[in-house]
Amino acid sequence: MHTTLTCSATGQTYPIDRLQNLSEAGKPLLAGYDLESLRETFTPDVIRERSIRSMWRFHEVLPVRHPEDAVSLGEGMTPLLRCRCRGPFAGFNDLFIKDESFNPTGSFKARGMSAAVTRAANLGAEVIALPSAGNAAGAATYYAARAGMQCYLFMPEDTPPANIIESVVGGAKVFLVNGLISDCGKLVRQGCEKFGWFDLSTLKEPFRIEGKKTMGYELAFDLADEDDTEELQLPDVIFYPTGGGTGLIGMWKAFNEMEQLGWIGSKRPRMVVVQAEGCSPIVKAFHEGADHAELFPNAHTIAAGLRVPAAVGDFLMLSVLRESGGTAVSITDEELMQGVYEIAQHQGLYACPEGGAVWKAAQKLVESGWMKPDERIVLFNTGTGLKYNHLIDLGDLPRLDHTDPNCLDVIEA
Ligand SMILES: *Cc1c(COP(=O)(O)O)cnc(C)c1O
Repeated sequence: MHTTLTCSATGQTYPIDRLQNLSEAGKPLLAGYDLESLRETFTPDVIRERSIRSMWRFHEVLPVRHPEDAVSLGEGMTPLLRCRCRGPFAGFNDLFIKDESFNPTGSFKARGMSAAVTRAANLGAEVIALPSAGNAAGAATYYAARAGMQCYLFMPEDTPPANIIESVVGGAKVFLVNGLISDCGKLVRQGCEKFGWFDLSTLKEPFRIEGKKTMGYELAFDLADEDDTEELQLPDVIFYPTGGGTGLIGMWKAFNEMEQLGWIGSKRPRMVVVQAEGCSPIVKAFHEGADHAELFPNAHTIAAGLRVPAAVGDFLMLSVLRESGGTAVSITDEELMQGVYEIAQHQGLYACPEGGAVWKAAQKLVESGWMKPDERIVLFNTGTGLKYNHLIDLGDLPRLDHTDPNCLDVIEA
């Protein structure tokens, strides 16, 4: 359970026992824990022995007093797959994919929503609201259903049909909006004022980040298992498909917490932000040396999770990139779809376009000499490809007439 809530820009503190959105400065609030007193009892060995099969096995650094208070559908504890060195993956001999498609509702949004809905429910919220152009919608819907809460969703009209459908099935009140995610965000703000809903937008409440940070904790355990050692391990480079940046900021926070717990040293992975060329505000700001990102005009990409033209946590992401010695890369929609096919056909998993993007970004940074292919690299596949079936062009599949005895003649042996 956290003991503080602090403005990420001004350091001003806020009471922890009531619902909170942004700070007075309009910036995200971050949860803090009494890590010093946790050091004795909260150790990697204790975690390993736990029977909790979800991210809530890290409940001491999550927003609950007791693990039973969590609104959980079994999120987290996703596989870390070592990549096969074949085809375009040849030479990448220490490359891993953390496959977040195993989460409830098929994406890592489940981690954030589990934490945020848990805290909101425990503090008495009855109605949540958020904008979403993709996977956040489904995750919010199903955690709200689990908690017995009502969920209002504002979605751009061009949101993938799978995300809209699953939200309707899960009982959310879904509104389709003729604009971008930022326009949907404005409607959420107005609705929250008018109807008293609780705003669960990315980084506008403190706990989605707390849920997503568990990816950082898990990774350290996964890599220790991989090396068959007790000592927690971090990779050299992490590739993160970045929209609002919750996971990037969250993992960085997790690494700092783990160091304060005495679990790891001061060495950190280089963090790489990957965005789509049609919507790359953080990439642009990073290469211009700016502290904040400007609104990205005419944002467009088929990777719905990356379609975030303005992020509240921009300054936090940029500081993570600089502190970690990382970088930021953009990928075209064509390239990222090519990445989906390559991961599918060489590694055996149907990644989302955002997952395709991080793979192509890794290739790019090897070609440019920024990174060596044999470094220990982790790519985040943040969701399942199944929610993006509408993007796949099947072309002309061969048709067979089973009544024709020679129908198999079309196949070349
Ligand atoms: C939301 C989303 C992202 C971006 O995540 P942030 O933490 O908001 O940057 C990436 N990939 C997928 C599949 C998503 O749904």
